[in-house]
Amino acid sequence: MPADRLRGLEGSPTLALAAKAKALAAAGKSVADFTAGEPDFPTPEPIAEAGHRAIREGRTRYTPVAGIPELREAAAKSLNATHGTRYGGADVLITCGAKHALYNIFQALCQAGDEVILPAPYWVSFPALIRLSGATPRILETREEDRFQPDPDAVQALVSPATKAILLNSPSNPTGTVIEESRLRAIARIAREHRLMVVSDEIYEHLVYPPAQHRSIVTTAPELRDQTLIVTGVSKTYSMTGWRIGAVAGPKPWIDTMTTLQSHSTSNPTSISQYAALAALTGDQAPVARMCQEFQHRRDRMVQGLNHLPGFQCLVPDGAFYAWCGIRGLGQPADALAARWLEEALVAVVPGEGFGAPNYVRFSFATSLDAIDDGMRRLAAWVKTHKPQPAAR
Ligand code: PMP
Ligand code: GLU
Repeated sequence: MPADRLRGLEGSPTLALAAKAKALAAAGKSVADFTAGEPDFPTPEPIAEAGHRAIREGRTRYTPVAGIPELREAAAKSLNATHGTRYGGADVLITCGAKHALYNIFQALCQAGDEVILPAPYWVSFPALIRLSGATPRILETREEDRFQPDPDAVQALVSPATKAILLNSPSNPTGTVIEESRLRAIARIAREHRLMVVSDEIYEHLVYPPAQHRSIVTTAPELRDQTLIVTGVSKTYSMTGWRIGAVAGPKPWIDTMTTLQSHSTSNPTSISQYAALAALTGDQAPVARMCQEFQHRRDRMVQGLNHLPGFQCLVPDGAFYAWCGIRGLGQPADALAARWLEEALVAVVPGEGFGAPNYVRFSFATSLDAIDDGMRRLAAWVKTHKPQPAAR
C-alpha cells in the first residue's frame, strides 16, 4: 500500500491527455490536438547551441544545489527588469521546472492543518501540490463576469487562523486571465493584515497580448516582497518545456530553506539545461516577441472559431495560450464531451473538471493555424450531427 499522503492522488490529467493524443497520432490517426500546454516551436537555436556548448566544454558535473550563480543572477535581473524589483542572485532558487519550484514552496511553507486559498478555475496540479504538503486547498470561486479574477472580498471571507498562503496565477492557466492592479492591491492588503504568504505563479508573464499588461503583485505592492514567492521559468517563454528549468524568487530565508530541501531531493537542476537557460535569459529576446505574436494570431483564430460554434462560448484570453470555453450550451459535462470528441471527431482537449470547472473545456492554441482550422471544422461537423440535449436549452 502506498503511503497515506498519496491516497487519492491522481496523475496530472493534462499530461495524461497530451500523452493519449500523441499516442493516437503515433498510431497513424490524424488528431487535432489541443491538449498540450507547451509551445510547439523548437527551442531557439542560440539557446540550444548553448546546451551543446555546455556538453562540449564538459559542464556536465554537479553545480551548486541552488543553481549556477550566473543563472541565479540572470533570473534576478530578468525579474527586476520586468517588475522593478530588486532581487539579487541569492534571492533566487533554480529548480527542475516551475512545477518543482511549486513543490518546494508548499513543502517548505505548509503542513497538516494549514490552508491555502486557491482561486478556481485553477491549474490541475495546484490542489495536488498543496495537498502533498499536508495542507488543504480552500477553493475561491471566481466568475466569468469578472473575467475569472479573484474577488478580494471573497478572499477575505476565506481567511481563517489556519490560512497560510494565497496562491495567485496571473496570467492564468487555464483562463488566460491577467489580474488587474486594483484587485492585486486589495489582496496584498489582506495578505499584509493577516501575515499570509502569497505564492504568485507568473510563468506566463511574457505571454501577454496587447493591450493587456501583466503586473506582478510585488510591483503593485512592493511592501509585500517579504511575504511573496514568485514562480517563473523558461519552459513557456523560450519554448523549453523539456529542459526542465524553473525558478522561485523571494525572501532569502525561504530560498535557503528550499535549497536545503532540494539538496536532499534533486540536488542541482541539470547543468546543461542551466547553461541553456542562461543563454535564454541573457541573449536576444526577439524570438520571444515573435512567438508571442504568433500565439496572438492563433488565439484570435481559435476564439473566433469557437464562438462561431453553437453552444460554445469563450472570452478572449489576455495571456497564456489557452482558450477557456464554456460548453453549458451543449448540455453535457466537459469530461463526457471531451471523451466523445476524441472518439468521434479525433479532437483532443482537456475537460474542465480537473481545473475545478465542469462546464468548461480548455483548448490550447499552442499549435499551428492549420491544426486550429482543422479542429474547428471537425467540431462544426460534430455539432451538426449532435444536437444540444434538451436540458441545456
Ligand atoms: N505553472 C503553471 C500555471 C503551468 O501552466 C505550468 C505548466 N507546465 C507550470 C507551472 C509548470 O511549468 P514547468 O514545465 O516549468 O514545470
Ligand atoms: N502546464 C501544462 C498544461 O497545463 C503542461 C502539462 C502540465 O505540466 O500539467 O498543459
